[in-house]
Amino acid sequence: MTDKVNISIDGRHIVTEAGKNLVTVAKEHGVYIPTLCYFRNLNPLGTCRICTVRVNGKDTTGCTVKAAGGMEIEVNTPDLLENRKAIIEMLYAEGNHFCPTCEKSGNCEMQNHAYDMGLTVTRYPQVFSAKNVDFTPKRMIMESNRCILCKRCVEEVKTRDGYDVFSFVQRGVKTRVQIDYEQEEKLSEAEAIRAMNLCPVGAILVKGMIQEQPFGERKYDLLGKDIKPVVRNESLRKADSGKYIIGTTSLAGCFGCHMSLLDIDTDLLDIVELAEFNKSPLTDIKKFTKQCHIGLIEGGCSNSENVHVLKEFRKKCDILVAFGECAIMGGIPAMRNFVPLQECLEEAYLNGITTEIGAHVVPGHEDIPKMLNNVYPCNEVVKIDYYIPGCPPSAQHIWKVVKSILLGEEFSIAHDEFKYD
Ligand code: SF4
Ligand code: SF4
Repeated sequence: MTDKVNISIDGRHIVTEAGKNLVTVAKEHGVYIPTLCYFRNLNPLGTCRICTVRVNGKDTTGCTVKAAGGMEIEVNTPDLLENRKAIIEMLYAEGNHFCPTCEKSGNCEMQNHAYDMGLTVTRYPQVFSAKNVDFTPKRMIMESNRCILCKRCVEEVKTRDGYDVFSFVQRGVKTRVQIDYEQEEKLSEAEAIRAMNLCPVGAILVKGMIQEQPFGERKYDLLGKDIKPVVRNESLRKADSGKYIIGTTSLAGCFGCHMSLLDIDTDLLDIVELAEFNKSPLTDIKKFTKQCHIGLIEGGCSNSENVHVLKEFRKKCDILVAFGECAIMGGIPAMRNFVPLQECLEEAYLNGITTEIGAHVVPGHEDIPKMLNNVYPCNEVVKIDYYIPGCPPSAQHIWKVVKSILLGEEFSIAHDEFKYD
C-alpha cells in the first residue's frame, strides 16, 4: 500500500500518495499548473520551466516534484504567475511564431497557454531567429525557428529497432533539434504523424499535412478562460461635436484589418452615431485636423514612412491601439526578417519569376521611403496602449474593444473570439 502524506498547496491542506507527481496531485485537487515539456508517457523533463512552483520557499519545476510529507507548495502567487507569463513571452520573442500562417495554430499548446495567460504581445524585443528549416527528411520538415527545445521528441520518438530519430546538436543559443534522415525513413506515416502531434508547437511537420479542422473546431479553440484586459474605468471626454474622434492607418499590412473593420455592416451606423473618423483611409482625410481619442494601427513598420506615420499617430492620438498581428508582432511582412534585405530586393525586382524581362532595376529615389532592415512591431517604435489580436480580428471584436475603451467599460474577450484564418 502507498504511504499517505500531508502537503499544502496554496494554503490548502491535502492528503495524497507519497512520491506522486505534483502536477497530477494539484490537478486532482483542482489546482492547474501549466506545463509545456511535460508529457504523460515521459519522465518529467523540467526543460520549459513554465510549471515553476515554490516548494518550502524554494522555486523549482513543479513537474519534477514528488509529493513528500510536510511540503508547503505555492502555485498561484502573483510573482509565480508573472514569471510563467514572462517565460512564454520570451519563448515568443526568441522564435518565429507567426501564428496566422502556422500549421499548428489552434492545436498548439504554447499558443493556448498564451491565450490562457491573456498574452496579446511580448514585452521582449523579437529576435527573428534564422535557424535552419530542414526539408530534407523523407516525411518531415523540421522548423527549428519554432522549436522551444522541450526535448519531448528527443526522448520519445524511437524507431522500432530502438534508434533515436531526433537529437540535440550544437550548444547554447545555437542548440537545435536535428533529424536523423536514415532513422526517420524507418518511421511509418502514422509514427511520423504521432511525432508531429507530440511536439507542443509547430516545429515538427509532416509533409502534405495541413489543418484538417476549420477554425472553431481545433483542439484549443473553445478552451481556456476569458481574457480580461485592464481597461480604464472612466469614459473619455467627447469632442465639441459630441462625438469621439477616431483615426486609423494601415502601415505594412494587407489592409485586411481595415476590411474587417467595415464588416460590421449596419452596426457601423451605431458607431457613426458615437464617433467620427478623422485621418483615416476610410475618410480619405490625409492629415490630422483634430486630436483623436483613439488611433487604430494596422500593420508594422517596414519602411521610413511607416515609422513617421506611426510617430505622428502617437502624438495625435490619446490612446493608440495596435489591431491585427502585423501591428502586434510584424505578422506576415516580418517573415522577410530572416532573409537579408538585399536578397529580398533582388528576389522582388531582379530575379523573381514575375519580374518583367529587361526591367532589372531595384527602384531607388529620394521620394521612395527607405526600407528598414527588418519589419518592426509597433510597440518597438512607440508606446502602444492596447492590442487586438487576430489575423484579422473580427469586426465585432474590434468594435467591442473600441467602444469599451471609449466608454470606459470593462470587457472580456472570449477565447474563441480570436481569429487567425
Ligand atoms: S508554433 Fe505556431 S501556432 Fe504555436 S505559437 Fe508558434 S507560430 Fe503560433
Ligand atoms: S521539435 Fe518540438 S518536440 Fe522537439 S524539442 Fe522542439 S519543440 Fe520539443
